[in-house]
Amino acid sequence: MQCPKCSGTLEVKTYGSEISIHRCDRCHGMFCNPDTLALMRQDWMSEAVLDTGDPAIGEIMDKWDDIQCPMCGADMEKSADTDQKHIWFEACPNGHGVFLDAGEFTDLKYDTLMDVIRGFLKGRRPGS
Ligand SMILES: [Zn+2]
Ligand SMILES: [Zn+2]
Repeated sequence: MQCPKCSGTLEVKTYGSEISIHRCDRCHGMFCNPDTLALMRQDWMSEAVLDTGDPAIGEIMDKWDDIQCPMCGADMEKSADTDQKHIWFEACPNGHGVFLDAGEFTDLKYDTLMDVIRGFLKGRRPGS
C-alpha cells in the first residue's frame, strides 16, 4: 500500500503476537486499525519499537490533513483522541484504521503513562 501522505510505501511491522501495523518507509507515519491502537497503548514498549520516525518530520506531515484511506480511498476524517484531545489523527470513515504521524503515538503513550503515574501517586494514602 502507498502512504497516504507521501510517496513512500506502507510496510507491515509486527510487534509481539497480536500487534501488526503498517508503517511508511519514508515519513514513518503509521496506519493501524483502532483495535490494534488500543493494544499498542497498553503495551509498555510498543512505541520504542514501532514509532521510530523523527517527530520533526511527523510535525511537518501533520499539516497534511487532506488524505485518503490507503485501503479504500475514502477521505479520512481528522478526529481527536477521546482521552487526549490535543492529539489528532486521521481516521477512515469506514473503520479501516487511523493514521498517526511519526512521533504522535509516542506522544499518546507518554501522556497515558504520565496519567497512570499521576493516578498512582494520587491513589496513595499520605504516610503510607
Ligand atoms: Zn509516508
Ligand atoms: Zn478505508
